Amino acid sequence: MSSEASAPQVTVLAGPTSVGKSTLSRYIRATYPQVHFSVSATTRPARPGEVHGEDYLFISDQRFDELLAEDAFLEWAVVHQKHRYGTLIATVEAALGDGKNVLLEIDLQGARQVRDKLRGAQFVFLAPPSFDDLVHRLVGRGTESDEEQQRRLETARIELAAESEFDVTIINDDIDRAARELIAYMGIELTTNA
Ligand code: 5GP
Repeated sequence: MSSEASAPQVTVLAGPTSVGKSTLSRYIRATYPQVHFSVSATTRPARPGEVHGEDYLFISDQRFDELLAEDAFLEWAVVHQKHRYGTLIATVEAALGDGKNVLLEIDLQGARQVRDKLRGAQFVFLAPPSFDDLVHRLVGRGTESDEEQQRRLETARIELAAESEFDVTIINDDIDRAARELIAYMGIELTTNA
């Protein structure tokens, strides 16, 4: 498997909306500090508890435009038709330069850009146990209107079809098993149960 190669690698984790990608990322950050995440830049305001430089680089629209003009992004996208998010080339290069396998937790649009730009990256699709499970997650929140729920379900159906573009699928049924599977795929050894 390519994850056994000794050169540090980029792994992209993507998946449909509401699959639990950010919950899995938070869990990995808290439980397995060996995993090195690329910190993205975003124009979204910080949520309570989020730390600049750890969760994201929280930047203005103007700064994002400047970085775009400098061609500083490996990939970027407008997510949920709202804010811009992007992976800085310098961030990824710094991690690889330090010999670290780096994880990019990004949306599907971004994953496709990385595929076009970066040779040797590996792509992990995070999938729900079933479509019904995803429906349950989307509808279960109870915060969206019927119309909005329908729109999201349609998006989820399209996004699930992207699975075939990925190298491997991890099913997000048990968070620790999913985390360990991802870490193993990245070629990171877990010597102790941190
Ligand atoms: P949130 O605002 O909840 O932290 O993230 C919203 C979405 O933005 C998530 O699906 C996450 O994967 C995606 N995202 C975070 N950083 C990046 C990035 O650098 N590039 C892209 N394309 N998507 C990102």
